[in-house]
Amino acid sequence: MSFFARPYRETSAQNGFAGGRLDRQAEHRSEESLTQALAAGEARIHLLAEDRALVRLASSPEASYTAAEAEALGLIAGSLVLLGFSPAGPRLAGLVAPRETWPEPMKAIELRSLAVQALLPAEELGALAQARSMLAWHRNHAFCARCGGATHMRGGGVRRQCPACGAEHFPRLDPVVIMLAIDPADGGGRCLLGRQPRFAPGVYSALAGFMEPGETIEAAVRREIGEEAGIEVGRVRYHSSQPWPFVSSLMIGCHAEALTTELTPDAAELEDCRWFARAEVRKMLAGTHAEGLAVPPQMAIANRLIAEWAEWEAG
Ligand SMILES: [Zn+2]
Repeated sequence: MSFFARPYRETSAQNGFAGGRLDRQAEHRSEESLTQALAAGEARIHLLAEDRALVRLASSPEASYTAAEAEALGLIAGSLVLLGFSPAGPRLAGLVAPRETWPEPMKAIELRSLAVQALLPAEELGALAQARSMLAWHRNHAFCARCGGATHMRGGGVRRQCPACGAEHFPRLDPVVIMLAIDPADGGGRCLLGRQPRFAPGVYSALAGFMEPGETIEAAVRREIGEEAGIEVGRVRYHSSQPWPFVSSLMIGCHAEALTTELTPDAAELEDCRWFARAEVRKMLAGTHAEGLAVPPQMAIANRLIAEWAEWEAG
């Protein structure tokens, strides 16, 4: 059986930021939804200082606050949105002004770092990812893209409306394809990894790029690999997806079967791009590579794409 012939199974749940379980109830929102949710005693608020989540560090760290705590921490008026409902009650998100230091044991932490360190339960991390993307969208869409008029939040944050022209605006999501190209020769023993200059030293990852209007996922995978590495791709197989709140992407992970192997990397995007043998990639995953080469951390979809292939044994 070849790598691409295996039965399908859902794999998104293993990706970082994939644990969000809030019931958004977007279809049942009114203009009172936010006020009513906030008034509930069980309401909890995720707070972000710019792009960092405010976390209460303890033996079990927490990242949500009561309305009174949020006020005391400097909740910015008008920034609140209703994310949805957990079994424990309403969940909201709001902004606080950034500070140099926070009262102990609180700390403002980047979401990427929270995910890498697995500091919070998966559901909390998922809600924070939703919070970061939603708050950024509201912050950046104060004016109507159609007429330039000031827009107003509606339904507790599920959309914005422009009173001047009547346009409704919905939170946007930017799909990104991320793909691991595999050379099917010799039982699929090599994969294609690249390095962007901004990566940590020694880190190689799967290639990625934004989808463009009018494309299927498969077409975007073939175009991106062609542009970045100069190879042709045949079969494309979806692996999993990952909410990526930097700022509001959906990573769509695929394995791609290489039809050609001669590389002509795009030097503007990648400082290196090459084929890696399976044995070498296993060492990169395990952190035992002799030259210190590595792949992204386990919370990243790239890691899961690479690991699924590297750990696979031809049956
Ligand atoms: Zn307008």
